[in-house]
Amino acid sequence: MIRFSEKLLHWYDQKTRGPMPWRGEKDLYRVWLSEVMLQQTQVETVIPYYQRWLQQYPTVKAVAKASQDDILKSWEGLGYYARARNFHAACQQVEKEHGGKIPETPEEFSKLKGIGSYTLAAVQSIALNRPLPAIDGNVKRVVARLKRMKEAPSKALLAIETFLKSTISHDRPGDFNQAMMDLGATICKSTVAKCDRCPVKKFCGAFKCREVHLYPVLEEKPFKPHYKIAVGIVWKGERVLITKRKAHGLLGGLWEFPGGKIKEGETAKHCAKREVKEEVGVMVQPLSSVGTIKHVYTHFSIEMEGILCRYVRGQPKTLDCADWKWINFSNISSYAFPKANHKLFPLIPKIPNGPKISPKEPINRKVAKAC
Ligand code: SF4
Repeated sequence: MIRFSEKLLHWYDQKTRGPMPWRGEKDLYRVWLSEVMLQQTQVETVIPYYQRWLQQYPTVKAVAKASQDDILKSWEGLGYYARARNFHAACQQVEKEHGGKIPETPEEFSKLKGIGSYTLAAVQSIALNRPLPAIDGNVKRVVARLKRMKEAPSKALLAIETFLKSTISHDRPGDFNQAMMDLGATICKSTVAKCDRCPVKKFCGAFKCREVHLYPVLEEKPFKPHYKIAVGIVWKGERVLITKRKAHGLLGGLWEFPGGKIKEGETAKHCAKREVKEEVGVMVQPLSSVGTIKHVYTHFSIEMEGILCRYVRGQPKTLDCADWKWINFSNISSYAFPKANHKLFPLIPKIPNGPKISPKEPINRKVAKAC
């Protein structure tokens, strides 16, 4: 088993992957940040965010002092916004409960907001040399093939962990974990396993039995619902109405155009009018559609239609949102919006002082493709 980690680390030392700014980093804050950003996100996407973040927030204290709006704006486009909210809350915890010093013991570190078993193991092994196996999707797949696991990885977590605990390098646990992840990302890929280039093929059960194609055993795919949504792009003079989502849950704390799911038998215009009333208590007149965009989230997909609306009456209230604002459309980039809303922006008529909309105006309907 020792030879497995030796082989793996020898391959890792050849630095087959391109430069990553966090590699070789031992600073606890930077390692923690990189591991949070890398969850569910590709390395190439993370690099510019990581570098910009460190310029903006070089310390835990800087994160803790920032507003949630600023944090979400810096995270905008990286997705899985709960990570940003939790990282922000955890940095505030460090300031408040630990005098600004990130706790180093696994027990204390794991009490910080958002620290799950993966982040705990990755950060502790890389920054503090603790031999804790970090198990992400890539690592699960590699071990499932190495050990020819007869169950889907989500059901074989204990066996995967047991194998990794018996093989992890105690001298270089952080490098071992990163090497396993790199192996899964570049060689033992989900679509194709490049076994001829694999440094650990002589230890691989699936390779020896010529059964690589059988592993990992597939997970049961949960049903992925599809929703039709309408949002109101409500103009009042030169300003447009935006609302902030409640702090928790999907996309919590981000800004958006008020709207929601279209009910059965309802038109997009009726839906936009109803949703604006329910969310902020404002009466609007729906006029025309700017078009429909599609967007795919991890657990569901949406079609979102933007409806230009004229403000009729009512002072906005936070009935079913955390906040609201009338803003100049030219300032929209100052607010953090979900990607789906960003897809709508180019469809909104760019007319100085707000769109000249009239009920008689023909509908300008476009459909933007999903990303
Ligand atoms: S030999 Fe092939 S299947 Fe086995 S770990 Fe290496 S790349 Fe994956």
